[in-house]
Amino acid sequence: MNGQKNTLKPKQNLAFNGEGEYKPGDWCRFCRASVECRARAEENLKVAKFEFKKPPLLTDVEIAEILLHVNDLTKWANEIFAYATNAAVQQGKQWTGF
Ligand code: SF4
Repeated sequence: MNGQKNTLKPKQNLAFNGEGEYKPGDWCRFCRASVECRARAEENLKVAKFEFKKPPLLTDVEIAEILLHVNDLTKWANEIFAYATNAAVQQGKQWTGF
């Protein structure tokens, strides 16, 4: 617990000041670039690129691996949706296909 505090707080400060590395983690929620950050997007999309193996039904191990990423993926997708909606409503931004 203390180790997480020792890691998260300095990285939170770096992220808030826009000085962090492009290494996604819990600290991304404090970063001003969190919605548009390519590194974070690629990390979240890893689960979308999950290679499904035969047989066609997912194994318990595969489902457990996906479950590890569901909260981050859902949070990131909601942030992208809110960002895009805000840009469309506030600035008249046109999103191709929408
Ligand atoms: S959102 Fe991107 S730039 Fe910001 S802290 Fe996370 S990885 Fe770094």
